[in-house]
Amino acid sequence: MAAPCRTDAIFETVVEEIETNEMCSKKAASLAPLVLHMVAECPVTKARVCDLTLPHCTVNTPVFMPVGTQGTLKGITVDQLEELNCQICLGNTYHLGMRPGPELIDKANGLHGFMNWKRNLLTDSGGFQMVSLVELSEVTEEGVKFRSPYDGKEILLTPEQSIAIQNSLGSDIMMQLDDVVSSTVTGPRVEEAMHRSIRWLDRSIAANKNPDRQNLFAIIQGGLNSQLRKACLEEMTKRDVPGFAIGGLSGGEEKDDFWKMVTLSTDHLPRCKPRYLMGVGYAVDLVVCVALGCDMFDCVFPTRTARFGSALVPWGSLQLKTKQFAKDFQPIDQECQCATCRRHTRAYLHALLKCDTAGMHHITVHNISYQLTLMRSVRESIIEKRFPEFVKSFMKRMFPTSDQYPRWAVEALASVNITLD
Ligand SMILES: [Zn+2]
Repeated sequence: MAAPCRTDAIFETVVEEIETNEMCSKKAASLAPLVLHMVAECPVTKARVCDLTLPHCTVNTPVFMPVGTQGTLKGITVDQLEELNCQICLGNTYHLGMRPGPELIDKANGLHGFMNWKRNLLTDSGGFQMVSLVELSEVTEEGVKFRSPYDGKEILLTPEQSIAIQNSLGSDIMMQLDDVVSSTVTGPRVEEAMHRSIRWLDRSIAANKNPDRQNLFAIIQGGLNSQLRKACLEEMTKRDVPGFAIGGLSGGEEKDDFWKMVTLSTDHLPRCKPRYLMGVGYAVDLVVCVALGCDMFDCVFPTRTARFGSALVPWGSLQLKTKQFAKDFQPIDQECQCATCRRHTRAYLHALLKCDTAGMHHITVHNISYQLTLMRSVRESIIEKRFPEFVKSFMKRMFPTSDQYPRWAVEALASVNITLD
């Protein structure tokens, strides 16, 4: 009799241990898949440094996120991105949802498996591409209706479908489908789009099948109207989403309107959540918007401009296709540590651009390195409490004389206590 009892007792202990472990792992899994640790805040401006822990690795902010399409960045490989210490990049839901399609991505264990990318991915909702790339798109309360550019079929993308695609892609950060209106549009359509984006946010939250491992970000809309922006901020921040994006900007509006909407947004966003400013990637814009309190940025600019032979440098850009570089045996930037600058001269790249796409790949590597290095320098300067000085010397190097400073940048920086001289 005694023996079976003992066995039972041991068995029970083992079961108890397993249950405890299971509970711990369940507990861990039920925690938000995003942790924002504030490392430093600039005592002068609104700039901040955070460590943003996502399911695949920690991202040091402020961060620039390179943009990929169809699961690969144009002109750069996953290996090269890793070598550049890129911690997060963007995947394109619209293109991936169409081709190769979510079923194939599912089979490949999501976009991470498909790309063999071990770090974080952010996917967009697919809505922006539709409005910007597809002429025939129509927005109704249900979703965005458009004609597939691949087979001409009419497709309706709803907030639920957008999340379903992003759930199969398995991205670390997903974006809600929003009703995107060009930033130059005014009038009642802007208000309608703002309210609809809030309703679509609620539908997106309800549709997320993986809240334990995929973060859904809300997108603040409201055009260039501060009342509408504020109303959107007030409503959306009532939702307990892991992060917020500032949307509907960088669409050809006046820079003066742009920075005012950015700073109004960061004034009303919760301090403890990441702030992602969408579609911003010019060096000056990045530095100014970090000062205004943004953490994350993305833009196709550095990779797109590379394909036209334009290399980004601290004093602007080099148009490497022009004759002046034909006999220039310096690297793109003497101080740059990237593989392109370590190995190749401007003259060689100039020659390559004439006959080989490899020229564009080398410049793409350099441009992404430039963006990531810029953000790392910004981060260090905030940690070391010398961000205002960093901004001043950055601007001096970018613009040879102070009368060339863009007026909007001077005013935006003045609003956060940096006076350029
Ligand atoms: Zn370089």
